[in-house]
Amino acid sequence: MAREKILSGESGDFDDEDHDLRPQRMHDMVGQRDVIARLQIAIDAAKKRDEALGHMLFDGPPGLGKTTFATCIHHEMGTKIELTTGPLFKAPKDLVPYLTNAEKSSILFIDEIHRLPRAVEEYLYTAMEDFRIDIILGEGVNARTHNLWLKPFTLIGATTRAGLLSGPLRDRFQIREHLNFYSTDELTEIVLRNATKLAVQIEDAAAVEISKRSRQTPRIANNRLRWVRDYAQSKADGIVTLEVANAALEMQEIDSLGLDRLDRRYLETLIGIFEGGPAGVEAIAHTMNTSKDTLEDEVEPFLLRSELVVRSPRGRMATAKTYQHLRVAPPDKGENAEQSPLFD
Ligand code: ADP
Repeated sequence: MAREKILSGESGDFDDEDHDLRPQRMHDMVGQRDVIARLQIAIDAAKKRDEALGHMLFDGPPGLGKTTFATCIHHEMGTKIELTTGPLFKAPKDLVPYLTNAEKSSILFIDEIHRLPRAVEEYLYTAMEDFRIDIILGEGVNARTHNLWLKPFTLIGATTRAGLLSGPLRDRFQIREHLNFYSTDELTEIVLRNATKLAVQIEDAAAVEISKRSRQTPRIANNRLRWVRDYAQSKADGIVTLEVANAALEMQEIDSLGLDRLDRRYLETLIGIFEGGPAGVEAIAHTMNTSKDTLEDEVEPFLLRSELVVRSPRGRMATAKTYQHLRVAPPDKGENAEQSPLFD
């Protein structure tokens, strides 16, 4: 995820492509009810004690609301927020301005926190635990270490790869929340609300269709909605009917399950060239003339989740659902041939 969120400090507003659609308060958020209920208790208690919230970690795939939670928490707490991202930090000194500028109860949000270099991560330990950092003043034989006391702040970390966080960093977060994918009903509600924010008229059936093709992810639903709105304004009378939504999504080659062209090429390669597998991801990537990382990060997670592909020790395999979806007859691999676990 190459997005960078740039802070502007004071107001917590930042250069954010999603700003117009991003909920600003927790009651504006859709879904994630359990997470919201737990956070509201923590926020309420922290406000009553007039203390900073405990450090928090949000994990989950891109576009599910990690940054949105941080933004809403800052509004609920009525404190400042600084937003930054792990890869921007090269050395511990890069963290110092963020930590020394932190005010009591203010929020420091670090996206992609698993990408902090080890030295930077270790520098965070005392900052998180004791609100203290050590800085070195002077050089050579005159160099002296000074303890600098920080205001009690809240670190909110977000990660798509919780497994890559080191144990010591993970343990320093008092609150850890995993974000789940959204149901079609929840996404439909998001699409309808956001259509109002974008001042576009939309039929309920069109909102449902956009949601079904949005991979259970609010950011994708927002992007699809913006495209369908553009299409409606350019090719129709501006109203998003079911017919307009279908035509717009077809033009982008997004199918009924939300697969795009690259997803379908992956499946076609798997069944057309590798006879449904098992096939190694490197071999598939090579045949498709794309990179293994692109397939692993951007294509496979959704295909695996949708049971259009299964992973076995010998490689990726198509399922009965793959053939049904692509309307291709499954190969006859013979009675004794090894079959995908989802094959009947
Ligand atoms: P992440 O930080 O997990 O990658 P974001 O918080 O940036 O994802 O979410 C992307 C967009 O999806 C937001 O701008 C917002 O419009 C929308 N969104 C995410 N979660 C919700 C939610 N629970 N309710 C409504 N909209 C949401």
